[in-house]
Amino acid sequence: MPNENICPLCSFDQISHETRLEKVSNHFGGHKEILLAYDTCQRCGTDGDFANKNGALIREAIDSLRVESVKTILQYFSDNKVNLAGMERALELPQRTLAKWKRGSPPPSAAGVALLRFLRLFPWLVDVANYNFDSEEGQQIHIKAAIDTLLTKINFKENQKTDNNLIPAIWVDSLCLETRPDGVSSLSFSTLLPEKEMEQVRLMVGKDQLKAMIDLLCENLNYYPVKD
Ligand SMILES: [Zn+2]
Repeated sequence: MPNENICPLCSFDQISHETRLEKVSNHFGGHKEILLAYDTCQRCGTDGDFANKNGALIREAIDSLRVESVKTILQYFSDNKVNLAGMERALELPQRTLAKWKRGSPPPSAAGVALLRFLRLFPWLVDVANYNFDSEEGQQIHIKAAIDTLLTKINFKENQKTDNNLIPAIWVDSLCLETRPDGVSSLSFSTLLPEKEMEQVRLMVGKDQLKAMIDLLCENLNYYPVKD
């Protein structure tokens, strides 16, 4: 039987006791400080938690933060007008499962908590479920969500920003440029999709306008390719 007053190594009974404040965190549930025991044998110097009390304290803190995190995530869904009933239908959860989880009776299983965390981070997973987990639809939903997120992170200089928010921004992976002997040039932008490369925009311009555009690009990027 582990005893905090007996050294587990040499069985000496003069043990010094100390407690240390440790932090347990959960990304969605916040954090909690707990006092953990540290015992040291005065003869051989062995140290640790001789009575094995810390494990239960840590588990208790983790469990209570998990309950908090479930409440926080479900409150976030409510605040953001996410339809919980629709979510339950898409994921084939029994009715009112999420409301019950929010009340904590019964609390979600570990698998349920993992599901909630994924939904909080990737809300579009519900759309994937609505398309019956179809692989192609799922990929398109994923790519669209990724591009939308990416676009919010790109900061353009004020003078390069367009004021028209209605213009859709598209993601471009490749550029194709062709010129005809009479100077008419074609410049096209394509996106690489899992199925194929898809041309998104094609511009027809005169060679001089094209050169002016390229000059503008070089100037802004401070990049002037060296000619052979
Ligand atoms: Zn000892």
